[in-house]
Amino acid sequence: MYDVALKLLINGAWREGSEGKSEPVVNPATGEVLGQLPHASVADLDEALAAAADGFKVWKAMTAQERYVIMSKAADLIEQRKDAIGRILTLENGKPLAESVGEVQFAADATRWYAEEGKRAYGRIVPARIPGVRQIVLKEPVGPVLAFAAWNFPASNVIRKISGALGAGCSIIVKPAEETPGTAIALTQCFVEAGLPAGVIGIVFGVPGEVSSHLIASPVAKKVSLTGSTQVGKVLQRLAATTVKRTTMELGGHAPVIVFEDADLDNAVNTLAMFKFRNAGQVCTSPTRFYVHESLYDRFVEGFAQRTAALKVGNGIDAGTQMGPMIAERRLAVMVELVEDAKAKGARVLTGGARIEGAGYFFAPTVLADVPDTARIMSEEPFGPIAPITRFSSYDEVIERANSSPYGLASFIFTQSLATAAKAEGDLNAGLVGVNHMVVSTAETPFGGVNESGFGSESGIEGLDAFLRTKFVTERGI
Ligand code: NAD
Repeated sequence: MYDVALKLLINGAWREGSEGKSEPVVNPATGEVLGQLPHASVADLDEALAAAADGFKVWKAMTAQERYVIMSKAADLIEQRKDAIGRILTLENGKPLAESVGEVQFAADATRWYAEEGKRAYGRIVPARIPGVRQIVLKEPVGPVLAFAAWNFPASNVIRKISGALGAGCSIIVKPAEETPGTAIALTQCFVEAGLPAGVIGIVFGVPGEVSSHLIASPVAKKVSLTGSTQVGKVLQRLAATTVKRTTMELGGHAPVIVFEDADLDNAVNTLAMFKFRNAGQVCTSPTRFYVHESLYDRFVEGFAQRTAALKVGNGIDAGTQMGPMIAERRLAVMVELVEDAKAKGARVLTGGARIEGAGYFFAPTVLADVPDTARIMSEEPFGPIAPITRFSSYDEVIERANSSPYGLASFIFTQSLATAAKAEGDLNAGLVGVNHMVVSTAETPFGGVNESGFGSESGIEGLDAFLRTKFVTERGI
């Protein structure tokens, strides 16, 4: 059962939109409607902005210790409810229940981590050139924040923004993705029950372009944080420029994975087969361009295709499911186009390659071998369960090909040579580099991209800093 009341949170109260507009939320595994999601009217958005301004004053005036107490209570509630919230997440997003519950656990961990880290928003004292002068660098919360988040990680995309902002002493208005609203609502309810003052978190939904242009035009908010596509990132940056708001942009990716000649082949095959199809490949750090050294190529391709073909695809709620559906029907057509284009350019389909007929939006886990660099999938972010594989022969060649994309989020290498690893870590144009494994996101480590994958980090001390501003104070004769 989809056990969540779909509402807006404005000034501490869960309510419907004032104009009565709404849209259906759909279970991608079945196509069934889970509930109706209210849309915020312009008047509702203005109320949310006013509440965020008031909430900011209250939250900023509290001590970091007082904020810590409320946030850690919220983290405890999230953890206690992780099975129930994980179920909501799977129903609206489709991913297997174990992945959902793990993601909600991440939300609890990140909230706890930021609750603590908020106590360490240290400034510094800088020795002065003038006798009797004391120079102080202060860190202050930046102000009310506007956050927009994608549906692929309905818990962690939202919580990194909420907990980062709250830990720093900011209020926040979040527009979670309309595809996956229930997870954000259930998480936010934990903060409300933990005693968060009204207005510190607002949750709104609507037509994304309309909501964002209205909220961002307001001078109330001082920061915009987006997790979404590069295309939308460019739109939001332009909007933010009109009131000179600072931004954090967590955008698209097209992660290369390089399997070098001296890689542990079994580890590479097993690790990649497990991570590639997580969340049906709808992950911004998902490996999407496989460059395998020619000496290992045939063995890698065979092992990887075998592992992929054995994946159990189905409804994420069912025990044993390893891969769920894609988020929406329109995404299936994109997958078909990418496969057909690669085939026309000479790629071989080793497994999958087509929609799985029946209810829901399922696409078979797909392995394409001998994919030329000219295939669209080698330059367009697939955001789906397709692994395109190609061979390479030299280090310089593969680094150049890996760096040929305008994106620069994650990159992965498999090698047993420390020298190769160290060189590639430096040479890859990416914000994240995984060597012999794929875990590039934790609460305490910075996460973010370069180039058209965006800028600014979430998580880690950098994630707190993103919600702080710097003030210089110089005192004499005190
Ligand atoms: P999207 O950009 O369409 O949507 C992201 C968010 O922006 C959602 O809340 C959406 O409602 C909102 N939005 C959409 N159009 C908007 C508009 N015109 N104005 C304002 N807001 C708008 O992205 P998506 O397709 O939902 O998500 C997939 C993309 O997100 C992929 O490119 C993926 O790589 C990226 N992503 C990046 C990260 C990261 O941390 N770098 C993490 C997850 C997803």
